[in-house]
Amino acid sequence: MKIILLGPPGAGKGTQAAMLMERFGIPQISTGDMLRAAVQTQSSLGVKAKKIMDAGGLVPDDIVVGIVHDRLQFEDCQKGFILDGFPRTLAQADSLKQVLAELDKPLDAVVSLQVDIDALVARLTGRRTCVDCGKGFHLQYDPPTQDGLCSVCGGRLILRDDDREETIRNRMKIYQEQTAPLEDYYRAEGLLIDVDGMADISTVQQAIVMALSGSLS
Ligand code: ADP
Ligand code: ADP
Ligand code: ZN
Repeated sequence: MKIILLGPPGAGKGTQAAMLMERFGIPQISTGDMLRAAVQTQSSLGVKAKKIMDAGGLVPDDIVVGIVHDRLQFEDCQKGFILDGFPRTLAQADSLKQVLAELDKPLDAVVSLQVDIDALVARLTGRRTCVDCGKGFHLQYDPPTQDGLCSVCGGRLILRDDDREETIRNRMKIYQEQTAPLEDYYRAEGLLIDVDGMADISTVQQAIVMALSGSLS
């Protein structure tokens, strides 16, 4: 199964992708996680990316396309993959189409999480992210078993530098301008599936699984 999870910051892409990864045994490919890993190594890419990410901007298309292109060649993508946070621009979507054509791995579906933008600030300011494995939690909606510690790996949970209210506004604006048009792009390709992202986490998961089983049969 080869799918994209689409939706604004805080829609639940990472949360749902991690659950789908477990359920279907295919990798979650999160460009945000890969960029944050590069930031931690303080590579030249990481240093450049951090400035852009902290301001809520988008890292240049050629960089993220390169990262995804390399990642898709890994053995674990043979059975499929879940793209989370990529593509984010029409140019990225066009490049992805080319890459997948080359690899002979056409997409099965694009799941678009439908959310109320007003609810997203609370989701993002309450999000806590593991510094070691990148897993996301929420202080109210998805709390870790132990305060401040990742339930999966025991890593420390932090508030991401870009999950502050000033930056969130900019990320939402950029989403509306550059990423929202991807809904029409994939609808035109007959791949788009709308799912209500405002229900609780497990209900959203069930809705995605149901929708995918319909689209794959
Ligand atoms: P995205 O990857 O789209 O930015 P996340 O999956 O990280 O979004 O979710 C953002 C925050 O909202 C996280 O703290 C997560 O625990 C929480 N969250 C995710 N899905 C839901 C939901 N359906 N209801 C309430 N909170 C949610
Ligand atoms: P969220 O899950 O809240 O939407 P991500 O973790 O996906 O956030 O991304 C965090 C930041 O990383 C983005 O605001 C952007 O700066 C950068 N980034 C991630 N994916 C991409 C992408 N596909 N294109 C450009 N920048 C990206
Ligand atoms: Zn962890």
